Amino acid sequence: MYYYSLNNYLKSTFGEKVYKISLNGGMTCPNRDGKIDIRGCIFCSRGGSGEFSADSCLPVSQQIEQAKQRIRAKSDCQKFIAYFQPFTNTYADVDYLRKLYYEAAMPDEIVALSIATRPDCLSDEVISLLDEINRFKPVWIELGLQTIHKRTAEYIRRGYELGVYDEAVLKLKSIGVNIITHIIIGLPYETKQNILQSVKYAGERSNGIKLQLLHVLKDTDLLTDYNNGVFKTLTLEEYVDVLCDCIEILPPDVVVHRLTGDGDKELLVSPMWSADKKRVLNTINKTFRERDVTQGRLYK
Ligand code: SF4
Repeated sequence: MYYYSLNNYLKSTFGEKVYKISLNGGMTCPNRDGKIDIRGCIFCSRGGSGEFSADSCLPVSQQIEQAKQRIRAKSDCQKFIAYFQPFTNTYADVDYLRKLYYEAAMPDEIVALSIATRPDCLSDEVISLLDEINRFKPVWIELGLQTIHKRTAEYIRRGYELGVYDEAVLKLKSIGVNIITHIIIGLPYETKQNILQSVKYAGERSNGIKLQLLHVLKDTDLLTDYNNGVFKTLTLEEYVDVLCDCIEILPPDVVVHRLTGDGDKELLVSPMWSADKKRVLNTINKTFRERDVTQGRLYK
């Protein structure tokens, strides 16, 4: 393995393979409910980037049970991560969040609680709740940064400044939770240099990183710009080339949670090559081998 993969990290931390269970806490997002905007980030699907999560009408314990049954039908996995994925999963009343998080974190077979959110949705009350839970179950917080560049952040309608991310990182570090930052590769107007700057910045401040290829999805404003020829999506070769450079500049102890993207194929418009995940991963690994991207820094 040419990078510190999530699987390696999970095996060395928990001693065996661990599956993520995608949960739906029924949240919305300030970028959609009108607090900041009603349009959402320009690339975000109607499902709030969580097309594979469970039904929010079900209690969390039931969502977990159903997911466990599905996973156990194809593997003997005993340990799971409870992952609140769609929309902004700290954007609610703290009493509601407490009930939700406790229900997800309490079962013995849940080894960590992972929460996807925005850096501007981490009030002091939420931080204190995360601290409380992190004392008995590891908490991971995923921050959707996507880019450090102001112009791109405005174009994608992220809705917060880089300084807000910096403040969130400091707060999260002070309570010792695991920080995972999302970066999108291939955003309109960004050069390879821009992408590497974002990855370096996030890598120096995070325990883990999710590198996500830009997907153009149906029913998004990004699709309108794409159809109007405002930008092109990356080819597989271009993506792998920049990805290798990103991996090379990451600190060796930063866990790589994602190398491509797991978009919903029903919604995907471009790049269509990304739907063939096996081919993408084979090309990535072949290129890693050829370029020796980690300069001999191999992970078992
Ligand atoms: S912050 Fe997340 S959920 Fe909200 S609009 Fe942006 S990508 Fe979608």
